[in-house]
Amino acid sequence: MAHSCSAMHHPRLSEYPFRKVYLHCPKCGIEAQYDRDELIRAGGDRELLDFRLEVARRKGCTKTKIDPSRVFDLCGIVYPDLVKAGQ
Ligand SMILES: [Zn+2]
Repeated sequence: MAHSCSAMHHPRLSEYPFRKVYLHCPKCGIEAQYDRDELIRAGGDRELLDFRLEVARRKGCTKTKIDPSRVFDLCGIVYPDLVKAGQ
């Protein structure tokens, strides 16, 4: 079996490698930190990609709507710890 399908794998909260989930949007300055296990207990496991935009929306970022004509203007919220870890 080829491993090509692993590129399509969307990591979930339960796979986040740290106990604290830290998010930051350099565009609008949003910062948020959550306890990973608490998040899963409260809202269920979900994809990191979905959760990222959920947090941005909750924190008042206005760039969370995926508009194909303005895709480059999308919210820049990321998981800086994951970026550092190279994931
Ligand atoms: Zn933003």
